[in-house]
Amino acid sequence: MTDMTTHPTPNTDRLAAERERWVASSVIGRPFFVERAEGARIWDVDGREFLDFVGGIGTANHGHSNPEIIAAVKQQLDSYLHQCFSLHSYEPYIDVCRLLCACHPGDFDKKGFLANSGAEAVENAIKIARYYTKRDAIICLDNAFHGRTLMTMTLTAKVRPYKLGMGPFAPEVYRTTGPYPFRGITTDDAIDGLHRLFKNQVDPSNVAAIIYEPVQGEGGFLPMPDDYPRRVQEIAAEHGFLVIADEVQSGMGRTGTPAAVEHYGVTPDLMTWAKSMGGGFPISGVTGRAEIMDCVHKGGIGGTYGGNPVSCAAAKVAISQVLDPNFQDAAKALGARMRSRLDGVAERSSVVGEVRGLGPMLGIELVDADGRPDAPSTAAVVAAAFDKGLIIMGAGVDSNVIRVLVPLVATEADIEEGMNILEQCLQDVSS
Ligand code: PLP
Repeated sequence: MTDMTTHPTPNTDRLAAERERWVASSVIGRPFFVERAEGARIWDVDGREFLDFVGGIGTANHGHSNPEIIAAVKQQLDSYLHQCFSLHSYEPYIDVCRLLCACHPGDFDKKGFLANSGAEAVENAIKIARYYTKRDAIICLDNAFHGRTLMTMTLTAKVRPYKLGMGPFAPEVYRTTGPYPFRGITTDDAIDGLHRLFKNQVDPSNVAAIIYEPVQGEGGFLPMPDDYPRRVQEIAAEHGFLVIADEVQSGMGRTGTPAAVEHYGVTPDLMTWAKSMGGGFPISGVTGRAEIMDCVHKGGIGGTYGGNPVSCAAAKVAISQVLDPNFQDAAKALGARMRSRLDGVAERSSVVGEVRGLGPMLGIELVDADGRPDAPSTAAVVAAAFDKGLIIMGAGVDSNVIRVLVPLVATEADIEEGMNILEQCLQDVSS
Protein backbone atom coordinates (compact mmCIF):
# COMPACT_ATOMS: atom_id res chain seq x y z
CA MET A 1 0.00 0.00 0.00
CA THR A 2 1.24 3.49 -0.85
CA ASP A 3 2.73 5.58 1.98
CA MET A 4 0.50 8.64 1.64
CA THR A 5 2.61 10.79 3.92
CA THR A 6 5.68 10.79 1.63
CA HIS A 7 4.19 10.20 -1.84
CA PRO A 8 4.33 13.30 -4.07
CA THR A 9 0.91 14.68 -5.03
CA PRO A 10 1.29 17.32 -7.78
CA ASN A 11 -1.97 16.36 -9.54
CA THR A 12 -3.92 16.28 -6.30
CA ASP A 13 -2.54 19.68 -5.35
CA ARG A 14 -3.51 21.17 -8.71
CA LEU A 15 -7.04 19.73 -8.58
CA ALA A 16 -7.48 20.76 -4.95
CA ALA A 17 -6.79 24.34 -5.97
CA GLU A 18 -9.23 24.08 -8.90
CA ARG A 19 -11.84 22.56 -6.65
CA GLU A 20 -11.35 25.31 -4.11
CA ARG A 21 -11.83 27.89 -6.86
CA TRP A 22 -14.88 26.43 -8.64
CA VAL A 23 -16.83 24.14 -6.35
CA ALA A 24 -19.04 25.50 -3.58
CA SER A 25 -17.08 25.12 -0.37
CA SER A 26 -20.10 23.70 1.47
CA VAL A 27 -19.66 20.42 -0.42
CA ILE A 28 -17.39 18.43 1.88
CA GLY A 29 -14.53 16.21 0.77
CA ARG A 30 -10.85 15.78 1.40
CA PRO A 31 -8.25 16.45 -1.31
CA PHE A 32 -8.46 13.08 -3.02
CA PHE A 33 -9.15 12.68 -6.73
CA VAL A 34 -10.02 9.36 -8.29
CA GLU A 35 -8.47 8.15 -11.51
CA ARG A 36 -9.50 4.50 -11.58
CA ALA A 37 -11.43 2.10 -9.38
CA GLU A 38 -11.88 -1.66 -9.42
CA GLY A 39 -13.42 -4.07 -6.89
CA ALA A 40 -12.59 -2.63 -3.47
CA ARG A 41 -9.61 -0.55 -4.63
CA ILE A 42 -9.23 3.02 -5.89
CA TRP A 43 -6.20 4.61 -7.55
CA ASP A 44 -5.90 8.37 -7.43
CA VAL A 45 -4.54 10.92 -9.92
CA ASP A 46 -1.06 10.64 -8.36
CA GLY A 47 -0.92 6.85 -8.63
CA ARG A 48 -1.68 6.21 -4.97
CA GLU A 49 -3.58 3.00 -4.20
CA PHE A 50 -6.37 2.94 -1.63
CA LEU A 51 -8.54 0.24 -0.14
CA ASP A 52 -12.12 1.45 -0.18
CA PHE A 53 -14.15 0.37 2.86
CA VAL A 54 -16.88 2.95 2.20
CA GLY A 55 -17.89 2.14 -1.37
CA GLY A 56 -19.35 5.54 -2.27
CA ILE A 57 -21.39 5.39 0.99
CA GLY A 58 -22.98 2.11 0.05
CA THR A 59 -23.34 2.58 -3.69
CA ALA A 60 -20.61 0.09 -4.62
CA ASN A 61 -21.85 -3.16 -3.08
CA HIS A 62 -21.11 -4.88 -6.41
CA GLY A 63 -17.55 -3.55 -6.50
CA HIS A 64 -16.16 -0.64 -8.47
CA SER A 65 -16.35 -1.11 -12.24
CA ASN A 66 -18.31 -4.33 -12.02
CA PRO A 67 -17.68 -5.86 -15.48
CA GLU A 68 -21.23 -7.21 -15.99
CA ILE A 69 -22.75 -3.83 -15.14
CA ILE A 70 -20.36 -2.03 -17.48
CA ALA A 71 -21.15 -4.46 -20.33
CA ALA A 72 -24.90 -3.89 -19.90
CA VAL A 73 -24.44 -0.12 -19.84
CA LYS A 74 -22.32 -0.19 -23.01
CA GLN A 75 -24.99 -2.20 -24.79
CA GLN A 76 -27.68 0.27 -23.70
CA LEU A 77 -25.56 3.23 -24.85
CA ASP A 78 -25.58 1.79 -28.36
CA SER A 79 -29.38 1.45 -28.42
CA TYR A 80 -30.97 4.61 -26.98
CA LEU A 81 -30.46 7.11 -24.16
CA HIS A 82 -33.06 9.12 -22.30
CA GLN A 83 -36.71 8.91 -23.34
CA CYS A 84 -38.78 9.97 -20.29
CA PHE A 85 -40.76 6.90 -19.31
CA SER A 86 -44.08 8.75 -19.08
CA LEU A 87 -43.71 9.70 -22.76
CA HIS A 88 -42.04 6.69 -24.36
CA SER A 89 -41.98 3.47 -22.38
CA TYR A 90 -39.13 0.99 -22.61
CA GLU A 91 -38.62 -2.53 -21.28
CA PRO A 92 -35.65 -2.00 -18.88
CA TYR A 93 -37.85 0.19 -16.63
CA ILE A 94 -40.39 -2.60 -16.31
CA ASP A 95 -37.63 -5.15 -15.69
CA VAL A 96 -36.20 -3.05 -12.87
CA CYS A 97 -39.60 -2.68 -11.20
CA ARG A 98 -40.15 -6.45 -11.42
CA LEU A 99 -36.71 -7.21 -9.95
CA LEU A 100 -37.11 -4.60 -7.23
CA CYS A 101 -40.49 -6.08 -6.26
CA ALA A 102 -38.71 -9.45 -5.90
CA CYS A 103 -36.55 -7.79 -3.21
CA HIS A 104 -39.62 -6.64 -1.26
CA PRO A 105 -40.68 -9.38 1.19
CA GLY A 106 -44.34 -10.32 1.56
CA ASP A 107 -46.77 -12.67 -0.10
CA PHE A 108 -48.87 -10.02 -1.87
CA ASP A 109 -48.97 -8.31 -5.26
CA LYS A 110 -46.39 -5.55 -5.56
CA LYS A 111 -45.60 -2.77 -7.98
CA GLY A 112 -42.73 -0.33 -8.39
CA PHE A 113 -41.93 3.26 -9.37
CA LEU A 114 -38.51 4.64 -10.31
CA ALA A 115 -36.84 7.95 -9.47
CA ASN A 116 -33.29 9.33 -9.32
CA SER A 117 -32.06 9.47 -5.74
CA GLY A 118 -32.77 8.04 -2.34
CA ALA A 119 -34.33 11.28 -1.16
CA GLU A 120 -36.64 11.33 -4.17
CA ALA A 121 -37.72 7.76 -3.45
CA VAL A 122 -38.54 8.69 0.15
CA GLU A 123 -40.43 11.82 -0.98
CA ASN A 124 -42.56 9.69 -3.29
CA ALA A 125 -43.19 7.00 -0.68
CA ILE A 126 -44.52 9.72 1.65
CA LYS A 127 -46.71 11.20 -1.10
CA ILE A 128 -48.16 7.78 -1.87
CA ALA A 129 -48.73 6.97 1.82
CA ARG A 130 -50.56 10.25 2.40
CA TYR A 131 -52.65 9.82 -0.71
CA TYR A 132 -53.61 6.24 0.18
CA THR A 133 -54.48 6.87 3.81
CA LYS A 134 -55.91 10.40 3.29
CA ARG A 135 -53.94 11.35 6.42
CA ASP A 136 -51.10 13.86 6.91
CA ALA A 137 -48.82 12.86 9.77
CA ILE A 138 -45.55 11.06 9.21
CA ILE A 139 -43.58 9.52 12.08
CA CYS A 140 -39.81 9.16 11.96
CA LEU A 141 -37.17 8.08 14.46
CA ASP A 142 -34.33 9.57 16.43
CA ASN A 143 -31.02 9.06 14.59
CA ALA A 144 -32.82 8.81 11.23
CA PHE A 145 -31.34 9.86 7.93
CA HIS A 146 -33.62 9.98 4.90
CA GLY A 147 -32.03 12.63 2.64
CA ARG A 148 -31.55 16.31 2.03
CA THR A 149 -34.68 17.55 0.24
CA LEU A 150 -37.22 19.51 2.26
CA MET A 151 -39.31 16.53 3.41
CA THR A 152 -36.38 14.15 3.80
CA MET A 153 -34.25 16.75 5.59
CA THR A 154 -37.18 17.24 7.96
CA LEU A 155 -37.26 13.49 8.57
CA THR A 156 -33.50 13.45 9.16
CA ALA A 157 -32.37 13.69 12.79
CA LYS A 158 -28.91 15.26 12.71
CA VAL A 159 -29.03 19.08 12.82
CA ARG A 160 -25.35 19.68 11.99
CA PRO A 161 -24.62 19.60 9.15
CA TYR A 162 -27.91 18.61 7.52
CA LYS A 163 -30.50 21.05 8.85
CA LEU A 164 -28.67 24.00 10.33
CA GLY A 165 -30.05 27.22 8.87
CA MET A 166 -32.26 25.35 6.38
CA GLY A 167 -35.68 25.72 7.99
CA PRO A 168 -38.59 26.11 8.13
CA PHE A 169 -39.14 22.41 7.79
CA ALA A 170 -42.03 20.41 6.33
CA PRO A 171 -45.10 20.26 8.56
CA GLU A 172 -46.76 17.19 10.05
CA VAL A 173 -43.54 15.30 10.74
CA TYR A 174 -43.25 13.79 14.22
CA ARG A 175 -40.09 12.28 15.66
CA THR A 176 -40.22 9.46 18.18
CA THR A 177 -37.75 7.45 20.24
CA GLY A 178 -35.41 5.28 18.20
CA PRO A 179 -34.03 2.11 19.78
CA TYR A 180 -30.35 2.32 20.75
CA PRO A 181 -29.56 -0.63 23.03
CA PHE A 182 -25.90 0.37 23.54
CA ARG A 183 -27.16 3.59 25.13
CA GLY A 184 -29.85 1.78 27.07
CA ILE A 185 -32.79 2.58 24.77
CA THR A 186 -34.62 -0.70 24.27
CA THR A 187 -37.52 -1.72 22.04
CA ASP A 188 -39.85 -1.23 25.03
CA ASP A 189 -38.57 2.33 25.48
CA ALA A 190 -39.07 3.05 21.79
CA ILE A 191 -42.58 1.61 21.77
CA ASP A 192 -43.42 3.60 24.93
CA GLY A 193 -42.14 6.69 23.11
CA LEU A 194 -44.49 5.99 20.23
CA HIS A 195 -47.46 5.67 22.57
CA ARG A 196 -46.46 8.91 24.33
CA LEU A 197 -46.30 10.59 20.91
CA PHE A 198 -49.87 9.44 20.25
CA LYS A 199 -50.97 11.01 23.54
CA ASN A 200 -48.93 14.22 23.44
CA GLN A 201 -48.60 15.19 19.82
CA VAL A 202 -50.63 13.36 17.20
CA ASP A 203 -53.56 11.01 17.28
CA PRO A 204 -52.78 7.72 15.54
CA SER A 205 -55.89 8.20 13.41
CA ASN A 206 -54.09 11.13 11.73
CA VAL A 207 -50.93 9.16 10.99
CA ALA A 208 -50.29 8.22 7.36
CA ALA A 209 -47.06 6.28 7.91
CA ILE A 210 -44.06 5.56 10.05
CA ILE A 211 -40.73 5.45 8.26
CA TYR A 212 -37.63 3.74 9.62
CA GLU A 213 -34.30 2.37 8.42
CA PRO A 214 -33.95 -1.33 9.36
CA VAL A 215 -30.30 -0.50 10.07
CA GLN A 216 -29.89 3.20 10.69
CA GLY A 217 -26.96 4.28 8.55
CA GLU A 218 -25.94 7.90 8.97
CA GLY A 219 -27.36 7.74 12.52
CA GLY A 220 -24.65 5.32 13.62
CA PHE A 221 -25.09 1.87 12.06
CA LEU A 222 -27.84 0.93 14.46
CA PRO A 223 -29.66 -2.28 13.56
CA MET A 224 -33.21 -2.25 14.83
CA PRO A 225 -33.56 -4.72 17.73
CA ASP A 226 -35.06 -8.09 16.68
CA ASP A 227 -38.60 -7.36 17.83
CA TYR A 228 -38.91 -3.65 16.95
CA PRO A 229 -40.04 -3.88 13.30
CA ARG A 230 -42.69 -6.50 14.15
CA ARG A 231 -44.09 -4.47 17.03
CA VAL A 232 -44.22 -1.35 14.87
CA GLN A 233 -46.00 -3.29 12.14
CA GLU A 234 -48.60 -4.49 14.67
CA ILE A 235 -49.22 -0.96 15.96
CA ALA A 236 -49.50 0.37 12.41
CA ALA A 237 -52.03 -2.34 11.52
CA GLU A 238 -54.05 -1.55 14.67
CA HIS A 239 -54.34 2.14 13.75
CA GLY A 240 -54.52 1.82 9.97
CA PHE A 241 -51.29 3.59 9.04
CA LEU A 242 -48.56 2.34 6.72
CA VAL A 243 -45.03 1.17 7.41
CA ILE A 244 -42.27 2.44 5.12
CA ALA A 245 -38.89 0.72 5.35
CA ASP A 246 -36.12 2.90 3.97
CA GLU A 247 -33.60 0.43 2.52
CA VAL A 248 -31.59 3.02 0.62
CA GLN A 249 -28.43 2.16 2.57
CA SER A 250 -29.29 -1.19 4.18
CA GLY A 251 -30.72 -2.84 1.06
CA MET A 252 -29.17 -4.48 -2.00
CA GLY A 253 -27.21 -7.18 -0.19
CA ARG A 254 -25.65 -4.80 2.31
CA THR A 255 -26.76 -7.02 5.20
CA GLY A 256 -26.44 -10.23 3.17
CA THR A 257 -30.03 -10.23 1.91
CA PRO A 258 -31.74 -8.10 -0.77
CA ALA A 259 -33.67 -6.28 1.99
CA ALA A 260 -32.49 -5.86 5.57
CA VAL A 261 -36.09 -6.27 6.80
CA GLU A 262 -35.83 -9.95 5.82
CA HIS A 263 -33.81 -10.46 9.00
CA TYR A 264 -36.87 -9.38 10.97
CA GLY A 265 -39.61 -11.35 9.19
CA VAL A 266 -41.71 -8.24 8.49
CA THR A 267 -43.45 -7.14 5.30
CA PRO A 268 -43.51 -3.32 5.03
CA ASP A 269 -46.26 -1.70 2.97
CA LEU A 270 -43.78 0.49 1.10
CA MET A 271 -40.02 0.30 0.67
CA THR A 272 -37.47 2.74 -0.72
CA TRP A 273 -34.34 1.78 -2.63
CA ALA A 274 -31.36 3.59 -4.15
CA LYS A 275 -27.55 3.58 -3.82
CA SER A 276 -26.29 0.12 -4.88
CA MET A 277 -29.45 -0.70 -6.82
CA GLY A 278 -27.87 1.31 -9.67
CA GLY A 279 -24.46 -0.38 -9.52
CA GLY A 280 -22.87 3.08 -9.77
CA PHE A 281 -25.62 4.87 -11.73
CA PRO A 282 -28.18 7.26 -10.27
CA ILE A 283 -31.51 5.53 -9.88
CA SER A 284 -33.92 4.86 -7.03
CA GLY A 285 -37.23 3.18 -6.52
CA VAL A 286 -40.31 2.73 -4.39
CA THR A 287 -41.98 -0.66 -4.12
CA GLY A 288 -45.14 -1.52 -2.32
CA ARG A 289 -48.43 -3.32 -2.14
CA ALA A 290 -50.01 -3.04 -5.59
CA GLU A 291 -53.22 -1.45 -4.32
CA ILE A 292 -51.21 1.24 -2.51
CA MET A 293 -48.87 1.91 -5.44
CA ASP A 294 -51.87 2.14 -7.78
CA CYS A 295 -53.93 4.51 -5.60
CA VAL A 296 -52.54 7.82 -6.91
CA HIS A 297 -54.31 9.47 -9.88
CA LYS A 298 -52.61 9.35 -13.30
CA GLY A 299 -49.65 11.75 -13.37
CA GLY A 300 -49.61 12.20 -9.58
CA ILE A 301 -46.09 10.79 -9.37
CA GLY A 302 -43.37 10.97 -12.00
CA GLY A 303 -40.39 13.04 -13.10
CA THR A 304 -38.21 13.68 -16.13
CA TYR A 305 -35.22 11.45 -15.47
CA GLY A 306 -36.65 8.77 -13.15
CA GLY A 307 -35.70 5.32 -14.44
CA ASN A 308 -33.34 6.61 -17.11
CA PRO A 309 -32.61 3.73 -19.56
CA VAL A 310 -28.85 3.65 -18.91
CA SER A 311 -29.42 3.57 -15.15
CA CYS A 312 -32.05 0.85 -15.68
CA ALA A 313 -29.58 -1.23 -17.70
CA ALA A 314 -27.12 -1.02 -14.80
CA ALA A 315 -29.83 -1.63 -12.19
CA LYS A 316 -31.12 -4.73 -13.97
CA VAL A 317 -27.73 -6.39 -13.56
CA ALA A 318 -27.11 -4.97 -10.09
CA ILE A 319 -30.43 -6.20 -8.66
CA SER A 320 -30.17 -9.57 -10.45
CA GLN A 321 -26.77 -10.10 -8.85
CA VAL A 322 -28.20 -9.30 -5.42
CA LEU A 323 -31.04 -11.78 -5.93
CA ASP A 324 -28.52 -14.53 -6.72
CA PRO A 325 -28.16 -16.78 -3.62
CA ASN A 326 -24.41 -17.11 -4.32
CA PHE A 327 -24.00 -13.32 -4.05
CA GLN A 328 -25.92 -13.35 -0.78
CA ASP A 329 -23.90 -16.27 0.63
CA ALA A 330 -20.65 -14.51 -0.25
CA ALA A 331 -21.89 -11.28 1.40
CA LYS A 332 -22.89 -13.17 4.56
CA ALA A 333 -19.50 -14.92 4.69
CA LEU A 334 -17.75 -11.58 4.24
CA GLY A 335 -19.84 -10.10 7.06
CA ALA A 336 -19.03 -13.00 9.40
CA ARG A 337 -15.31 -12.74 8.65
CA MET A 338 -15.24 -9.00 9.23
CA ARG A 339 -17.33 -9.26 12.36
CA SER A 340 -14.99 -11.74 14.00
CA ARG A 341 -11.98 -9.59 13.10
CA LEU A 342 -13.69 -6.47 14.49
CA ASP A 343 -14.74 -8.25 17.68
CA GLY A 344 -11.09 -9.20 18.19
CA VAL A 345 -10.02 -5.62 17.56
CA ALA A 346 -12.61 -4.39 20.07
CA GLU A 347 -11.24 -6.66 22.80
CA ARG A 348 -7.77 -5.20 22.33
CA SER A 349 -8.82 -1.55 22.08
CA SER A 350 -9.91 0.68 24.94
CA VAL A 351 -11.76 3.15 22.66
CA VAL A 352 -14.19 0.66 21.11
CA GLY A 353 -17.49 0.76 22.98
CA GLU A 354 -19.39 -1.54 20.68
CA VAL A 355 -19.09 -3.38 17.38
CA ARG A 356 -22.52 -3.82 15.84
CA GLY A 357 -24.31 -4.36 12.59
CA LEU A 358 -26.10 -6.85 10.43
CA GLY A 359 -24.06 -9.03 8.07
CA PRO A 360 -21.45 -6.92 6.30
CA MET A 361 -23.06 -3.59 7.35
CA LEU A 362 -20.84 -2.97 10.34
CA GLY A 363 -20.13 -0.07 12.65
CA ILE A 364 -17.71 0.54 15.52
CA GLU A 365 -18.78 3.01 18.20
CA LEU A 366 -15.88 4.81 19.88
CA VAL A 367 -16.15 6.04 23.45
CA ASP A 368 -13.87 7.82 25.93
CA ALA A 369 -12.80 6.51 29.33
CA ASP A 370 -16.17 7.55 30.80
CA GLY A 371 -18.15 5.81 28.06
CA ARG A 372 -19.10 9.09 26.37
CA PRO A 373 -19.12 9.44 22.54
CA ASP A 374 -15.57 10.05 21.35
CA ALA A 375 -15.79 12.08 18.14
CA PRO A 376 -12.14 13.31 18.20
CA SER A 377 -10.74 9.75 18.31
CA THR A 378 -13.13 8.73 15.54
CA ALA A 379 -11.92 11.58 13.32
CA ALA A 380 -8.31 10.69 14.18
CA VAL A 381 -8.81 7.04 13.19
CA VAL A 382 -10.45 8.03 9.88
CA ALA A 383 -7.58 10.44 9.09
CA ALA A 384 -4.83 8.03 10.12
CA ALA A 385 -6.40 5.21 8.08
CA PHE A 386 -6.46 7.46 5.02
CA ASP A 387 -2.73 8.16 5.44
CA LYS A 388 -2.15 4.41 5.44
CA GLY A 389 -4.32 3.90 2.34
CA LEU A 390 -7.63 2.79 3.89
CA ILE A 391 -10.79 4.79 3.23
CA ILE A 392 -13.30 4.64 6.08
CA MET A 393 -15.90 7.11 7.22
CA GLY A 394 -17.61 8.33 10.34
CA ALA A 395 -21.31 8.19 11.18
CA GLY A 396 -23.62 8.79 14.11
CA VAL A 397 -25.45 11.76 15.53
CA ASP A 398 -22.40 12.19 17.81
CA SER A 399 -19.95 11.52 14.95
CA ASN A 400 -18.31 8.73 16.96
CA VAL A 401 -19.06 5.67 14.83
CA ILE A 402 -16.82 4.25 12.11
CA ARG A 403 -18.87 2.67 9.38
CA VAL A 404 -17.75 -0.16 7.17
CA LEU A 405 -19.47 -0.41 3.79
CA VAL A 406 -16.83 -2.40 1.97
CA PRO A 407 -17.80 -3.57 -1.55
CA LEU A 408 -19.21 -7.06 -1.14
CA VAL A 409 -16.81 -8.43 -3.76
CA ALA A 410 -13.76 -7.58 -1.62
CA THR A 411 -11.19 -10.38 -1.57
CA GLU A 412 -9.79 -11.99 1.56
CA ALA A 413 -6.57 -10.08 0.93
CA ASP A 414 -8.50 -6.78 0.75
CA ILE A 415 -10.20 -7.51 4.06
CA GLU A 416 -7.04 -8.64 5.84
CA GLU A 417 -5.08 -5.62 4.65
CA GLY A 418 -7.86 -3.18 5.54
CA MET A 419 -8.48 -4.73 8.94
CA ASN A 420 -4.79 -4.64 9.81
CA ILE A 421 -4.70 -0.91 9.06
CA LEU A 422 -7.91 -0.28 11.00
CA GLU A 423 -6.65 -2.24 14.01
CA GLN A 424 -3.35 -0.34 13.99
CA CYS A 425 -5.16 3.03 13.85
CA LEU A 426 -7.50 2.05 16.69
CA GLN A 427 -4.54 0.94 18.79
CA ASP A 428 -2.75 4.22 18.09
CA VAL A 429 -5.67 6.27 19.44
CA SER A 430 -6.07 3.91 22.43
CA SER A 431 -2.49 4.43 23.64
N1 PLP B 1 -32.25 7.14 2.98
C1 PLP B 1 -31.16 6.58 3.56
C2 PLP B 1 -31.35 5.50 4.57
C3 PLP B 1 -29.88 7.02 3.20
O1 PLP B 1 -28.82 6.46 3.79
C4 PLP B 1 -29.75 8.03 2.25
C5 PLP B 1 -28.41 8.53 1.86
O2 PLP B 1 -27.41 8.29 2.47
C6 PLP B 1 -30.90 8.57 1.68
C7 PLP B 1 -32.13 8.11 2.06
C8 PLP B 1 -30.81 9.68 0.65
O3 PLP B 1 -30.29 9.16 -0.53
P1 PLP B 1 -29.71 10.16 -1.64
O4 PLP B 1 -28.44 10.72 -1.09
O5 PLP B 1 -29.50 9.27 -2.84
O6 PLP B 1 -30.75 11.19 -1.88
